[in-house]
Order: sequence, then C-alpha cells, then structure tokens
Amino acid sequence: MPRYIFVTGGVVSSLGKGVSAASLGALLQSRGYSVHVRKFDPYLNIDPGTMSPLQHGEVYVTNDGFETDLDLGYYERFLGIKLSRNDSCSGGRIYWEVLNAERRGDYLGATVQMIPHVSNKIKEHIALPTDTDFVICEIGGTVGDIEQKIFLESIRQFANDVGRRNVLFAHLALAPYLEQSGELKTKPTQMSVRRLLENGIQADMLFVRSPRMLTSEERAKIGMFCNLPAKNVITSMNVDNIYKIPIVYDEQDVFAIMAEHFGLPNANGDMSKLKKIEHHLNADLPTCTIGVVGKYFDVADAYKSLNEALFHASVQNNVHLKIKKIDAEHFTPEDCADVDGILIPGGFGTRGVDGKIAAATYARENNIPFMGICLGMQVAVIEFMRNVVGDKNANSTEFAKNCTPVIDIMADCDKENMGGTLRLGAYPCEIKPGTLAEKIWGSTSISERHRHRYEVNIKYKDELEKAGMIISGISPDGKLPEIIEIPSHPFFIAGQFHPEFQSSPFSGHPMFNAFIAAAKRK
Ligand code: GLN
Repeated sequence: MPRYIFVTGGVVSSLGKGVSAASLGALLQSRGYSVHVRKFDPYLNIDPGTMSPLQHGEVYVTNDGFETDLDLGYYERFLGIKLSRNDSCSGGRIYWEVLNAERRGDYLGATVQMIPHVSNKIKEHIALPTDTDFVICEIGGTVGDIEQKIFLESIRQFANDVGRRNVLFAHLALAPYLEQSGELKTKPTQMSVRRLLENGIQADMLFVRSPRMLTSEERAKIGMFCNLPAKNVITSMNVDNIYKIPIVYDEQDVFAIMAEHFGLPNANGDMSKLKKIEHHLNADLPTCTIGVVGKYFDVADAYKSLNEALFHASVQNNVHLKIKKIDAEHFTPEDCADVDGILIPGGFGTRGVDGKIAAATYARENNIPFMGICLGMQVAVIEFMRNVVGDKNANSTEFAKNCTPVIDIMADCDKENMGGTLRLGAYPCEIKPGTLAEKIWGSTSISERHRHRYEVNIKYKDELEKAGMIISGISPDGKLPEIIEIPSHPFFIAGQFHPEFQSSPFSGHPMFNAFIAAAKRK
C-alpha cells in the first residue's frame, strides 16, 4: 500500500498548494521514492473543460485527453510523471457518479447520503491504484469553504481506514506582514489550523506562506497553538521562481519530517537538477524577448504551461526570458519592434483574431522567428492563404460562415452540436523527412497533446505548398495537418497541438527549445 500525503490550504486561496504538493513529491523523488499526485477540486463542474481561462486559469490536458486543473501541469513538470483522468477529480464528478449510481439502483433501496455515499466515492478516487511508494492528494479550495467540507471529512475517514501513520496531513496557511507594526502575524495560521481541527484533522506539518523566513520564536509560537513541534512549522517563502520552492523546503529539512512521520530512514537527496535552474536564474546572460500575441492576459495563470515552456527553453538556451504580452485585440506592428520572436498561442472565439493574423503577417514579412500553437497555426495558415496564395476570402469556419474554409471541422462530428466535440489528448503525428520539424524533433513520428475543434483543411494542401508553406507533420491517416512551416523563412513553424503540455523544466521541449534558439540567433 502506498503512503498518502494530503495537502490542504487555509486563510486565502492561491497560496501555491499545487507547487507545494509537487515540491513534496520532488523531495521524495530525490530520495529515490516513486510518487503519484492527484488533485481534488470541490467545485460542481464535472471537469474544468467548460471553464473560461479567465476563471481558473488554463485548462490542462492529459495524454488520455482529460481536461484538468492546471495544477496537474505542475505535478507532471516537477516530477516528470504522466497523469490521467484518474488524477483530477471535481466535486461535480463525484456527485455525478453517485447520482448515476442512485438512478441505476446500485444502492439497493438505501437512503443516499453525503456520508457514507459521497464520502465513500471520494475515498474510492483517492485509493485508485498506483504503483508508487507515495500518493500526494491536493484538496482544492480553502478550509472553511462549504463545498470543501465533504472532502475534509473523506480524508479524515481515509486516514482512519488506512492507519494514521500511513497518512500525513500537510497544511498551507498565511502569515501576513503588517507594515505599520513591522510584525508578522501568526493568528490567521492558528485559526486555519483550528478550522481543520473542527473537521477532525490534525495537521502534521505546516507551510506558512510569508514574505520572510519565520524566526524560531514564531515557529515555536505557531507550533504551540497548533499541537506541533516548531520544526514541523516550515516557512513557505515568497520566491521569484517556483523551482526554488523544493530547495527552500529541503533547506528546512522537510524530508526529515516526512521520514519521521512515516517511520522511514532520513536521507539526503540529490537536488542538483533544481539547483541548476536556480543557478541559471542568477547567471549573467543575455535576454530574449518573446512577444506573445494573446487575449487572456487578465489572469496570471491563463497561459501557465506556455510561460513555463518558454522559461524551460530559455534555460536550455542560456538566455534570460522576457515575455512581452501583446494584446491581440489592439495589435499594431509597433508592438513587435523590440521582440526577438513572435508566438501566437491557442484560443477560442473571434475576439482578437484579426490582430493575430496581422502579427503572423508581420513575422512572415520581417523574418521574425515565429511559432504558432493550435489557433496560432490556424491563424498562420489563414494569413498565408490570404496574403501569399491570394485568396482574400480565406478563413476558419469558426469565424465566418461564407468563406474559403481553409480551417474547418474535419473530424466526424456534428457541426450543429458543438458541445463536447474537441479533439483532446495525445495523437500521433508523422513528420516529413528533411523538414525543419524533423530537425527539431529528431524523429519522424511523434506524439503531442491536442485541445481543439477545427483543423487545417487538407483540401488546400497543394495550393499552400505551391506558394511556399509546407505541411511537414500530418496525422498517420494523412487527413489532419499537424505541423506547417515556411522553408524560405529563417524560422516559421506552427503546430495544431499544444507542445507546452509536454515541456520539462530539466530538458525543455524540442519545439520551444528551437524557437528560443532562433530568437537568440536573431
Ligand atoms: N479555436 C480553435 C479550435 O477550436 C483553436 C483552439 C485552440 O487554440 N486550443 O480549433
């Protein structure tokens, strides 16, 4: 049986539970243990697929095509593991499964109740088999939320079921700093731990988010109020880069606390991969500026994986990264005057499309390194069809009904019923030998993750290729263009997939690595 770590948060949301959960995993991995991570989100959406990125940030996609919370991206990136639909579970999905079971008659006449039926369903999801030494479960929301209560009840029961020593409760809280009195206030943390206790959960380890390291007196004081030795009160410092968090935790002997709790030998870990990133951040290096022409900039997390992938590639290329957010809705070519590369990310809906098309024109005509992702590829194709092939009526049927449908719905799906018809998850792609794509991936058959409904219309392949835009990657059945490039341009490539979902902080992703390398050359 694996050992379980539950991560909860209190006082306020956005304390970085996801990064903390991933960091605990990194500490365990660095001592040779295998780790799996799961996210439970108490909200009622069945999955986050229908949520605007302006709500909860980006929608992350797993290999098996499940639309998940963006925290799964942290887990995969920090730990190099691949997660699935079993690893992102919302309150809505739990209730949906319970209510469907009720309709099927599975409960044999019983009164269906929060306890035990809903709590058992949550426990079933927690206990889905893995072949790892540890399972870390992050519970979304903030202690005190009505929606979260049943999840707390379930993890309390779970610890009782599997044995208290097989379960560790880690809790994140906040110690705000009051400027006037120059004091770090510990009361919100105390109250948050109390709230957990009201639900029958004694935190075993506290991560206190704070602008500076807690003093030993502050740790002892918090520990005294929270039934913990001072050493189990860890400072979760504000840092300028998330990859420093596991290092900050390691320096406070977090592994030793976990080892003591679970009865494992203490050990030192190999943190060299993360330290390399820390070293990169402090190094004196040239800066590469990438213009991202998008429209979801109001929320910091809307382009999370994309920003991460660009950063990873900057580490691989020994440059510092500056991301210039360019608002597609108000795009002017001057926006690109100081950029070394232009990236058009994914997106849905008409808003901002004209600006994205203009940005693609600018990159193509001025030999600026260009990378398009999903909608970014569709936009590059529309632009090329209009301005190089010369068909001014070219468009996507997502944006215009009567057009030359160079982007269209190609899969066998119902055009009238648009819900739930996205192409989701990992699909294979065959790469044409001798192309830039082959050079980038170093292979002629790859797999990347998708999340889109429209496709480049294969009917226009000859017209595009004659004019100088080639299809260098395509689905194995030869029907769905996956990668386009312009061989006469120094670096112009786009993919129908989202390579950012497979980028690693320790090796980057080939497409991003090549893009940043091209921007660096410029
Ligand atoms: N809106 C486009 C489609 O549905 C692109 C989606 C995306 O960029 N993820 O195909």
